[in-house]
Amino acid sequence: MYQKPLPQPDAGTRPFWEAARAHRLCIPKCRACGQFHFYPRALCPHCRSADLDWVDVSGRGRVHTFTIARRPAGPAFKEDVPYIVALIDLEEGPRMMSNIVTGDVEGVRIGDPVKVRFEDVSAEISLPKFIPA
Ligand SMILES: [Zn+2]
Repeated sequence: MYQKPLPQPDAGTRPFWEAARAHRLCIPKCRACGQFHFYPRALCPHCRSADLDWVDVSGRGRVHTFTIARRPAGPAFKEDVPYIVALIDLEEGPRMMSNIVTGDVEGVRIGDPVKVRFEDVSAEISLPKFIPA
């Protein structure tokens, strides 16, 4: 049984989580201005249009910044330390918070290329994480 906190999909995020379950990274794209954004919102943060679509993206990006967690965020994370919490700049533009999964946390650098990898953690939820590319 998975002991860590799980996302609670709602109307605004369900397409993201359903795609993740199928191991696709799918994020909002504005039909009015053509730009992607993340996290999901009711209005495009670039032009305020409500004419949004969900579009699969490459899953490739670069490390914007990161930290190495050496103390667990709670008892459920105790086995994971040290682990990396990172901001990833997706190829398509948006910045996403996730983990970089690697056996070499000391080897990660800002600007490193990464790619998405999904972890199936429950019957409904797969979490998008990143690995060095
Ligand atoms: Zn827009």
